[in-house]
Amino acid sequence: MSQTESWFKNRVCILATMHKKEQVMVRPLEAQLQMQVIIPQAFNTDSFGTFSREIKRMGTQLEAARLKAQQVLEVTGESLAVTSEGSFFPHPILPYCACDRELVLLLDKTNDIEIVGTEISLETNYSHTSVKTVSEALAFAEKAGFPSHGLIVMESPKPQKNEMIFKGIVTEEKLINAVTKVMESSPKKTAHVETDMRAMYNPSRMKVIAQATHNLIEKILNTCPNCNWPGFDIIETIPGLTCEICHFPTDLIKSEIYQCKKCNFQQTKDFPNGVKFADPTYCNYCNP
Ligand SMILES: [Zn+2]
Ligand SMILES: [Zn+2]
Repeated sequence: MSQTESWFKNRVCILATMHKKEQVMVRPLEAQLQMQVIIPQAFNTDSFGTFSREIKRMGTQLEAARLKAQQVLEVTGESLAVTSEGSFFPHPILPYCACDRELVLLLDKTNDIEIVGTEISLETNYSHTSVKTVSEALAFAEKAGFPSHGLIVMESPKPQKNEMIFKGIVTEEKLINAVTKVMESSPKKTAHVETDMRAMYNPSRMKVIAQATHNLIEKILNTCPNCNWPGFDIIETIPGLTCEICHFPTDLIKSEIYQCKKCNFQQTKDFPNGVKFADPTYCNYCNP
């Protein structure tokens, strides 16, 4: 039995999540870490912020995930928790593309361990629009992967109290009904339509959450060669992989430095992508 197994094996792990994320998270966590995953019944993760912004999220994505884990452990009196947090933003280089960044955090209060898995994906339907007619709403819906992906309809992108908001719309009838009602009541006679990013209404997001969960498990299983602490992780990457033709250094990664969070042991792993030279395409000398 490895050290990782002895830390987590047969322990109760509270999965602080709503929105059916357990569908993709429970099995890999139980199978690969031998923990017993339990979903608390009365823990409302929406009180930590909603994507539709009626409740603002506190702090960064990481802080929100950590806070959720700490609070669910307090409420349940347990010592081990996993939480997940999603974030959506425009791609830094491709202006009309959106990114989905999913973060999955494990907190072990007994051993003071925090390990974070992440995944960034362009496979997201994250978008919104303002419509003046039902047919505009239907056109947006088609592009947004509706009805396998749900939609939200509300008066304005910044929802105020007492404004109408319809969430989790997955039928054309409900969409038409919501858009019509909101347009009637809104002062500008428009409706704000956006993708519902809650996991159970968004199979694309569910996939990215599954990948982030795998990333977390991989990190947990990567233990320190010196003291066996889980979560031996990259703290720095060093560019300079040399060009295959001219042997000048490129901007590609040459090595990765791993460090243990417990004993600070470091290890440098060269050529993380398995290649010792860079393709000349990436060389500023051969291909300026
Ligand atoms: Zn160590
Ligand atoms: Zn070169």
